[in-house]
Parts: sequence; C-alpha cells; structure tokens
Amino acid sequence: MLKYCFSLCIAVLALVSCACAKLNLFQQPSRAEFALGTVCNVTLFDQAREEVYRDIFGHIREIENRMSVNLPQTDVMRINAAAGYAPVPVNNDVFAVIERAVYFAELSGGAFDPTVGPLVSLWGISGDYPRVPSQEEIDAVLPLVNWRNIELNPEERTVFLKIPGMALDLGAIAKGYAADEAAGIVKEARINQAIIDLGGDIVTSGIKKDKTKWKIGIQDPFNSRGVYIGIINVFEGAVVTSGVYERFFEEDGIRYHHLFSPSQGSPAAGNLLSVTVIANSAMDADALSTALFVLGYEKGNALIETLAGIDAVFVFEDKSIRVSPGADFFLTDDEYWIAVE
Ligand code: AMP
Ligand code: MG
Repeated sequence: MLKYCFSLCIAVLALVSCACAKLNLFQQPSRAEFALGTVCNVTLFDQAREEVYRDIFGHIREIENRMSVNLPQTDVMRINAAAGYAPVPVNNDVFAVIERAVYFAELSGGAFDPTVGPLVSLWGISGDYPRVPSQEEIDAVLPLVNWRNIELNPEERTVFLKIPGMALDLGAIAKGYAADEAAGIVKEARINQAIIDLGGDIVTSGIKKDKTKWKIGIQDPFNSRGVYIGIINVFEGAVVTSGVYERFFEEDGIRYHHLFSPSQGSPAAGNLLSVTVIANSAMDADALSTALFVLGYEKGNALIETLAGIDAVFVFEDKSIRVSPGADFFLTDDEYWIAVE
C-alpha cells in the first residue's frame, strides 16, 4: 500500500536563544504565509512596519507567479509549454534565476539540473499520488533532462528548451532567490535586524544588537519539524538545507525522496540525510544544497573546497555529521556525532 507522507517541513528553523531573547522574539510580530509551496516566515525585529511585511509577501507572490510550476501561466509554465517549439520572452528576474541555475548545473557537473521537471512529474513527487515508475518509463524521460538543452538569449531575454517534452523546475533555487529579494526589501526599508525563513531557506539580515551571531537550528531528519540537532552560528547571511525529510513517500517499505539524480532518474542514492549550505546568497546556497546532496559527500565537499565563502554541514544516515572548516556549528543532540577525517 502506498503511504504518502508529504511534509512541508521547515528544514531549518530560525532559532533564537538566550542572547536573542533580548530582542524579544516571542512577542515580536512575525508574519507567516503559505507561498512557494511552503510556509514563509518573516520576522522584522525593529520597526516591524505593516507595509514592509506587505511589500515582502507581495514580492514573494510575484516571484511565485512567475516561477512556479504549480500555477498556470507562469513564465516557467510558458517556457515548458513551448519546449521544442519556440523561445519564450520572460521577465528579467526569471531570466536571471535560470541563468544562475545553468551556472550551477555546469559547476556541479549536472548534479543540479533545472530541467528535472519530467522526472518530478513522472515520480509525482509534488502531487497527491507519487509512485515508483518502471525503468522503461525512467529511460523514456531521461533524454529530456539535460541543462545543456536550455538556450538562453540575453539580448531578447528569451528561454528556449530545445526538445519537446522538456520542462524546467526551479524548485531547488527559486525559494533562495525569493529569500534574497525579501532581504533586499528589508535593507531598503532600513530595518536593522530580520530573519527571513522560506521553508528552510533562511536569511539573517543585519547584525544583532548584542553583536553576537544569529543562531540557526538544523532540523533533526528523524524528528518532527522544529526539533533540531545542532546550531549554526552566523553573522549576516544565508543558511539553506536540502533534506530527504522535506518531501518523500513510501512504497513497499522503501522511502523515496524528492532530490533526484538527473543521471539516474531516481532519488539520489547515498548515505546523506541532509546538506546545509552557508553562503552570502540564499539563491546560491539553495542551488548548492541540492547540488551537494546529489553529488554526495566526497564530490560535494571537493566542490565547496573550491568555493570561497561557502560552507556546508552534511548529516549522514548513521547520525554522523561532517562540517566544513569555515562553518561555526554546535552540536546539541548527543545521539549525533561529529566525524573527523
Ligand atoms: P531543494 O529542497 O532546494 O533541494 O529542492 C528540491 C526540489 O528541487 C525538488 O522538489 C524538485 O522540484 C527539484 N529538484 C529535485 N532534484 C533536483 C536536481 N537534481 N536539480 C535541480 N532541481 C532538483
Ligand atoms: Mg535547493
């Protein structure tokens, strides 16, 4: 029997402990709305003005209306509908996000691939009836999954998918972009401290009043939402997690998650449960968290070693954790342990 478990889990929760209590978080008017397929939570710590919340959520919805594959008539849906047929003019921001997605596709050797749309549909991972497809079905869609068949024309600002049946899915990068945009609105409004949490894509904005780092909890992959295994301390920046627990289903006792290997056409295999990336840009951290998860620890870690200012925390099935040297991570759950190479 198919047991479908869909959890809109906030992969990482903004955790404000004793130091932040001075900022009075729990009486702080934070705002939560459902958008981009997840719960979006914004907390403005000073001057929590209504119009700033309105601007932020208005802009998040604008992004959703251009980039979602779950709404009709978005730019991305128009690109997909014209696959193999015609280039489609798109909004500036859609073009920029797809350009960045292509950059990370190349950087990760295709582990991150924004053309996974046909795989996401085949497995039904975003819908109510996910299922394990046959190898024949997988083989039939695999030729459609290849970022090299995205043709970008910067002069015309058009996007063309060269093969009929190809489909973009920006699910692994758009939330990060939206989080960066929300942080931009916070800065423009001259709000000094804020946390933006778009379903686990977190941006901390500003330096805390007591000058200590923000504390961001890493979700326990085996536990309910909000239970964390450790804390990442950061000054201003993005902390983004890709985890198997965010979206999955079970069939015949086997769990299938939503992070696909574009070369295999199935959920990326390996011994990882989650990867958290710390970076300046949430868009980059978002793409990279998915990329590193699919690459696996060895290749993923080798990749971040080449990237300045990017760090990662890898959580493994055996409850070991590997942390890149620049990450300020503090373990709080004694069932887990930090593995040292
Ligand atoms: P995230 O939670 O950011 O890792 O994004 C996961 C979502 O990105 C999935 O639900 C899919 O829509 C999409 N996705 C899955 N696998 C990949 C991949 N290898 N490259 C790019 N996007 C992917
Ligand atoms: Mg991602």
